[in-house]
Amino acid sequence: MTRLEELLAPRRLANDHRVVFLVDEFFRGRELLDRLPVREGDRLEFVGTAKEPTTEGIDQIVGGLRSGSNGLPVAIVGIGGGCTLDTAKAVSNLLGNGGRAQDYQGWDLLPGPGIYKIGVPTISGTGAEASRTCVMMNVAKRLKLGMNSQYTIFDALLLDPDLTSTVPREQYFFTGMDTYIHCIESLAGSHRHALADAFSREALRLCADVFGSDTMQSPENLSKLMAASYLGGSALANSYVGIVHPFSAGLSMVLGTHHCVANCIVMNAMDEFYPAEVAEFRNMVSKQSITLPSGLCQALPEEALHDLYLSTIVHEKPLRNALGDGFADVLTEERVIEIFCRM
Ligand code: NAD
Ligand code: ZN
Repeated sequence: MTRLEELLAPRRLANDHRVVFLVDEFFRGRELLDRLPVREGDRLEFVGTAKEPTTEGIDQIVGGLRSGSNGLPVAIVGIGGGCTLDTAKAVSNLLGNGGRAQDYQGWDLLPGPGIYKIGVPTISGTGAEASRTCVMMNVAKRLKLGMNSQYTIFDALLLDPDLTSTVPREQYFFTGMDTYIHCIESLAGSHRHALADAFSREALRLCADVFGSDTMQSPENLSKLMAASYLGGSALANSYVGIVHPFSAGLSMVLGTHHCVANCIVMNAMDEFYPAEVAEFRNMVSKQSITLPSGLCQALPEEALHDLYLSTIVHEKPLRNALGDGFADVLTEERVIEIFCRM
């Protein structure tokens, strides 16, 4: 964490220049906290991960940081998984721009930069450390969408694969697989970019190494997956996802299923759209002896199935990227529900 202190030093020129640390709740009471350069006047808040970030939750954190403080912090440090990194990005954007989280859900809606922000990922896969978005659920609007903006990108990153050594096996697989899915969706889309393609191909090669390995959590593989995650997130900055993410967002919105496990559940039902990739995905699931949850939608009432359809089809950009302008003709309500019922 010496590097973190070096990054913060120039920002802390005056004594009252405080830093806000947002730390994944997993680290509560763990030795990592003793190594953080927290000084008097700084704030350290734990970020819960039982639920993924919501627009309301972000507004609450920002409200708490604004109240009782004299002036804005000079830096926000996010330490954790996708939930914590996205929370740090959203909080920084709101402290810098004012307003409420939902005001900026969409593309390029932020008028200016947020507070200087540093990302320290502790689990690899989402690419949230590299991407230009921070995903939040807007329960009222049934919308899972981020603040897609150049201002959402972290100003600095600290990538230390050792921090990921405590991630439980299944979680490591599910979150790591987010990179795989981002990249196959990006490469299969029509919104292509040579840079995104190059990032995606290398990230997929690294994923194949890691998830084809007998020791997917060896120190070497921790490094490879951290690199893959960063490349996958960078790929997305220049492209879009495809069909898996909209369906996955539906599961998250309606059933509260977490992003990465939801992606894997959806991927397993995507034979007609990504046949070769689904076969490769199943090989990795089987190689790592991972059990995917199943039967999620079988006993759902009609209203919930309709909600699943609505919260999938709302994601026009990725669906258009994957299926063209006629995406809604391909993904009729009947077909979408039939696919959900296979999960
Ligand atoms: P997460 O942040 O919930 O972390 C997963 C679990 O791993 C949590 O229980 C967490 O406490 C635990 N964990 C984290 N680091 C650990 C460590 N070192 N040791 C042990 N446990 C550890 O989930 P995630 O899968 O990293 O991220 C999912 C979130 O990221 C979703 O909200 C999703 O929408 C978002 N996302 C964002 C982007 C983006 O570009 N911004 C892209 C994809 C996904
Ligand atoms: Zn994802």
